[in-house]
Amino acid sequence: HFMAEVADIMSKPHQQAILPDLAAGCSMADMANLAKVERCWRELAEVLETPDALITPVTYINSAADLKAFCGEHGGIVCTSTNAPTILDWAFAQREKVLFFPDQHLGRWTGFKKGIPLDEMVVWDPDLEYGGLSVEQIRKAKILLWKGHCSVHQMFQPAHIIKFRNQYPDGLVISHPESALEVCRQSDYVGSTEYIINVIKGAAPGTRWLVGTELNLVNRLAEEVKAEGKIVQFMAPTVCMCSTMQRIDPQHLAWTLENLADGKVVNRISVPEHEAALAKLALERMLAVS
Ligand code: SF4
Repeated sequence: HFMAEVADIMSKPHQQAILPDLAAGCSMADMANLAKVERCWRELAEVLETPDALITPVTYINSAADLKAFCGEHGGIVCTSTNAPTILDWAFAQREKVLFFPDQHLGRWTGFKKGIPLDEMVVWDPDLEYGGLSVEQIRKAKILLWKGHCSVHQMFQPAHIIKFRNQYPDGLVISHPESALEVCRQSDYVGSTEYIINVIKGAAPGTRWLVGTELNLVNRLAEEVKAEGKIVQFMAPTVCMCSTMQRIDPQHLAWTLENLADGKVVNRISVPEHEAALAKLALERMLAVS
């Protein structure tokens, strides 16, 4: 759903964005909403007085259009898992603190790699007053991490890596930064989906990989590199599919296309104009910086 919104925001006036199944989405994106982010901003204003002068809001691309618009309005920006380090540099060049939502893990890993101490990256729990933080914690924080996570990546544990390394001492571990900090720290490589694909495709024949990211991608990749003798396995022992993402299937796509062939646009995603303009500002800042 958030991708269709981005497509609509960035499209030309004669183009329309269609989402083959309206129930498709991202459970992580749903962990932050505008009402809660605005309440957070108001509470931060009570502690810091001028959040607009002190905090850059950064939203992961996996977020609703109104949150991107919030970032556009408050001097903030959008990031992806690929450009998060560059975007964080930009954010700190604007103001001294960052409010990062909705994925705490991507924010923490990116801050950690930049040398920000863990006690200066605090979790903002949107269901608690002042995020469950003391005034001192808020004042000291460099990054306020929204309490959100990916339901798939949270399944990966350091124990899975230890077991794999015991079994296959020459094996390599690669994880997506939506995984927990301890999983990322124990991985040989950490990066976006694109990065994971490139590293494994470029690896030497016969290598064995433990991969911490979404199962459909891991299975596809395993098939693609099998001929080179590379073994690619999923990090968690239990199957954990992303039920919201995989709703876009050939049947829904075919139904959408058949309707288009009949001249009907079904499941159009259209972001309200004012919201789209502000969200575009945050997206364009990201494109300019990265
Ligand atoms: S795997 Fe699913 S829940 Fe996790 S970030 Fe991707 S779309 Fe969202």
